[in-house]
Amino acid sequence: MSSECSKCGKKAVYLRRYTAEKLCESCLVDTTIDRVRRAINRHQMLKEDDRIAVAISGGKDSAVLLHILQQIEERFPESEIVPVTIDEGIHGYRDQALESARNLSTSLGLDLQVFSFKDLFGHTLDSIIASREGISLGACSYCGVFRRRALNVAAERLGADVIATGHNMDDEAQTVLMNVLRGDSSRLARTNVKRNRSIEGLVPRVKPIMVLSERDIVAYSHVLDLPYHDVPCPYATEAYRNDVRHFLNEMEHKRPGTLITLLRSGEAISDAFQKISTGGTMGYCERCGSPSPSKVCKVCELLDKMEN
Ligand SMILES: [Zn+2]
Ligand SMILES: [Zn+2]
Repeated sequence: MSSECSKCGKKAVYLRRYTAEKLCESCLVDTTIDRVRRAINRHQMLKEDDRIAVAISGGKDSAVLLHILQQIEERFPESEIVPVTIDEGIHGYRDQALESARNLSTSLGLDLQVFSFKDLFGHTLDSIIASREGISLGACSYCGVFRRRALNVAAERLGADVIATGHNMDDEAQTVLMNVLRGDSSRLARTNVKRNRSIEGLVPRVKPIMVLSERDIVAYSHVLDLPYHDVPCPYATEAYRNDVRHFLNEMEHKRPGTLITLLRSGEAISDAFQKISTGGTMGYCERCGSPSPSKVCKVCELLDKMEN
């Protein structure tokens, strides 16, 4: 790029297309952190004295999340950051990602906490998948059910007030559109519930970098040379999401700003649903006591099916 930074006039290295900003390296870093800080304030994601469990996969999204949060939280001496990795137990896949997560945490002076499916549920994802005859869910659905629970248990054991995850703008826009295309209104309503409306028994979750596009994240991690290891999960078969991703990437390319507009639409729909809803029928699992809309929660149900 042969033009000047829109902020300071130095040589621009990055075009943030959806804001039409041309940015030099240092303004790229500053504006990226600033976008996240403003999102945290606008949605009241974090409090001054939070103990924040930051979910780290070893990939670039969570690397950028951890790096940015640490800089933002420096101004809040009473807050604390605890990086957490969930080890699903996928042979040959998680090891390198774990190493990246450890390297990143160490370089930031943080101590990575690792919780495994094996310790928490008695099974690795490999063994769960191997035994799933007669159960119709795909591997990602399984993993999602157990990961959500694992993160919640991890956060509770670590005494965390909130869980921050590395979902980015692309992920979130895809999820909104997928829910619309599938007619899944209850999921649309439940996506990105505000922190103050979280459910008793569940540690609230926030997504501070959902205001950053995947391109922003790649650029930020490249400029700062953050250690990360992005490998596709061997079980990932998200055909539907891939179709939606291709469509949205094309739209975003032709009409920059499509992703963030879709994200805002999702928020508006979710807000509107929550204003008219009575809070639903969330009870507690009769086996494990976790919040659950049914008598037996999904985790207990799946573990049952495996063991019988
Ligand atoms: Zn600049
Ligand atoms: Zn249960």
